[in-house]
Amino acid sequence: MANESLQIPNFIDGQFVAPVGGKYLDNIEPATGQPYSQVADSDTRDVELAVAAAEKAFVQWSGTSAAERSRILLRMADLIERDLEKLARAESIDTGKPLSLARSLDIPRAASNFRFFATAILHTESEAHVTDGLAFNYTLRQPRGIAGLISPWNLPLYLLSWKIAPAIACGNTAVAKPSELTPMTAYLLGEVCREAGLPNGVLNVVHGTGPNVGAPITAHPRIGTISFTGGTVTGRKVAETCAPMFKKVSLELGGKNPNIIFADADLDAAIAGSVRSSFANQGQVCLCGSRVFVERSAYQDFVERFVEKASQLRLGDPLDEKTDQGAIVSKTQLEKVKFYVDLALKEGGKIALGGSSPKPPNERCQAGYFFPPTVITGLPVSCRVNREEIFGPVVTITPFDKEEEVIGYANDTEYGLASSVWTQNLSRAHRVAEKINVGTVWVNCWLVRDLRVPFGGMKQSGIGREGGDEGLRFFTEPKNVCIAK
Ligand code: NDP
Repeated sequence: MANESLQIPNFIDGQFVAPVGGKYLDNIEPATGQPYSQVADSDTRDVELAVAAAEKAFVQWSGTSAAERSRILLRMADLIERDLEKLARAESIDTGKPLSLARSLDIPRAASNFRFFATAILHTESEAHVTDGLAFNYTLRQPRGIAGLISPWNLPLYLLSWKIAPAIACGNTAVAKPSELTPMTAYLLGEVCREAGLPNGVLNVVHGTGPNVGAPITAHPRIGTISFTGGTVTGRKVAETCAPMFKKVSLELGGKNPNIIFADADLDAAIAGSVRSSFANQGQVCLCGSRVFVERSAYQDFVERFVEKASQLRLGDPLDEKTDQGAIVSKTQLEKVKFYVDLALKEGGKIALGGSSPKPPNERCQAGYFFPPTVITGLPVSCRVNREEIFGPVVTITPFDKEEEVIGYANDTEYGLASSVWTQNLSRAHRVAEKINVGTVWVNCWLVRDLRVPFGGMKQSGIGREGGDEGLRFFTEPKNVCIAK
């Protein structure tokens, strides 16, 4: 896959096209720190071309039967599965994530996103309301037009397909922008679209930076729907642009997720689950549990066993089959992680594991962006490290005494995305789940996904929900038709 001469083009109107300005950015492989391809550095002119193509395609696509749209999306899912190995390798090289993770999680889930929404549109219902003896109402749910879809670098194809699939399944057309750091699988998806027979212009992918491509998409007057996943600071800018234009917006933003372990939990399961939720994808999953709270009577035992298990994670070349921990996505992100580890020490924390740059795993990865799983104890709940999103392989572990106390800790952040609770006491699980202010609570598990459930965050973790019916609702406009009797 390494191909320094590859210049990743845009995908507009079914064609791979160079950016109008002819400019490209280096695309760095995080494991080596070296450029391995280039990506289009597009601007407003490319966004305009994509909007024109999407607008033209909408006329026909919005009138295409659900059965036909479904057939094409199912074909896309099949092709993603057929190309699993190629896509997984591309994702691993682009992001630094272990190849085994891309193969088992990212790419299969991208395929299931297409399959899920391809079949969901065959099973929709429409509400009807009878108004006394006066009238009969029914609800039409129509596609809204062009959707602008902006996604981050941590789960590139998985998160982009989570938006593309429901948007186009519902009959919208789309202008998508992947992160400039991880454009490769979005590029390869263009090939999938062509082979699957997706009509030209239904999906357009414009590569480039947030300010040059993301901002013009959110500000474009003919893009009325914006689905954005990324950081809270960027989400705020997107909201500021969209609000006065009355766009329909869904924002999936950052998190600082609590992971609560009660002393009555199955500790083996809680430790295995917590190591995974702390360090999967080098801790770069918005749903990672970065604040671990353990009931005091189990605290010492938990910390020792957690550290022991985390120390067994093999950090290595992402392309090595045995690697559990790959590279951090970029130098900037690596610096951010280091900054927070230094800050933790200043705030009184104690490093129980990791904390400094490891030896490069091999010759090829000498200049790669690696950081080991890092565990910090002894920090106050309200310090910066416990409140701000790090988005790396760093967790804090804090003891607690009472249920109400840990609920307070869990909610003591501006974020509200997800949480895990580990306990054998079912009543407690229900009680705690009800009181934590987050969009998803996992009990005795983590990252179990059912595509039918609502997904999203509270507070500064975002607004709106996607997934299942929520996704179908977001990408359609409900219209009431009232017929007099
Ligand atoms: P960013 O917010 O930096 O970027 C997200 C996307 O927005 C990228 O494609 C970026 O482009 C683009 N962008 C940047 N500036 C603008 C702008 N002014 N207008 C429109 N688009 C813009 O997030 P990261 O890529 O750093 O991703 C990490 C963040 O994403 C974390 O905070 C994480 O929690 C969050 N996230 C949330 C999830 C959720 O479901 N709630 C899931 C996964 C991640 P470019 O990168 O090319 O500059």
